[in-house]
Amino acid sequence: MPELPEVEALAQFLREHAVGAVVGRIDVGALSAVKTFDPPVTALSGRDVTGAGRWGKFLGMDCGGLWMITHLSRGGWLRWIDEPSPTPPKPGGKSPLALRVRFFTPEGATPAIDLTEAGTKKRLAVYVVDDPELVPGIAKLGPDALDVTEERFIEIMRGTSQRIKTAIVDQSLIAGIGNAYSDEILHMAKVSPFANTATMSEAKTAELYESMRAVLTDAVARSVGQDAARLKGEKRSGMRVHARTGMPCPVCGDTVREVSYAERSFQYCPTCQTGGKVLADRRMSRLLK
Ligand SMILES: [Zn+2]
Repeated sequence: MPELPEVEALAQFLREHAVGAVVGRIDVGALSAVKTFDPPVTALSGRDVTGAGRWGKFLGMDCGGLWMITHLSRGGWLRWIDEPSPTPPKPGGKSPLALRVRFFTPEGATPAIDLTEAGTKKRLAVYVVDDPELVPGIAKLGPDALDVTEERFIEIMRGTSQRIKTAIVDQSLIAGIGNAYSDEILHMAKVSPFANTATMSEAKTAELYESMRAVLTDAVARSVGQDAARLKGEKRSGMRVHARTGMPCPVCGDTVREVSYAERSFQYCPTCQTGGKVLADRRMSRLLK
């Protein structure tokens, strides 16, 4: 799932590649992905692309005051196609294509962006709005993880009482962080995923803030300028604990552990984060019964 650094890189990618082009035909591959009806997606055709933006994990393309905004969700991605096939996709087919936006560039090229979504759970969302704040998910966002001040961050975290792993990915508290980067941030700050936000000391919460900035700033620096197709690999290569169950922690050498619940899992290092304690993994516990 793309998080703040990847979406920031995609916004930058659109600024470099799409701004200055004219929107051509829009092909809808998955009707369910389009969440707004008025104006219709076809209203974008014929408009100049004038900018791109990011709100938390939402990506937006400004077409002269009319915005196309997307939330890629867990299985979604944006691909840049230099020479798309002229045939429109079949709506409702098995293709992962949710939406294709074609462009005419000033140089005479006709590239496109494809919004695709893997998996059976279709959550990718597209909105066409005059004002980004009209997207309900954007209106509800808390301050951005890279804009929030340390003082405000401490106030927000200590003002809620829940597991830090849950709080830091709650977009209404802090915007932009998902499962992968939260694993990395907690690992760098040496905080247990199960630590309670209300009882964590102010000094530790300040350390968490510093780690959040360090992890995200580093990931943005590595992601921006990467081709959209390479962003996933770049994201994975920078991870120290996330998706590295069973591998050695690069800081202390302990084995990275995992906690699984429902359809998700997260990773942490016991020595770095939980005083050596292995957290109960509900899936493992069930298997052992
Ligand atoms: Zn460690």
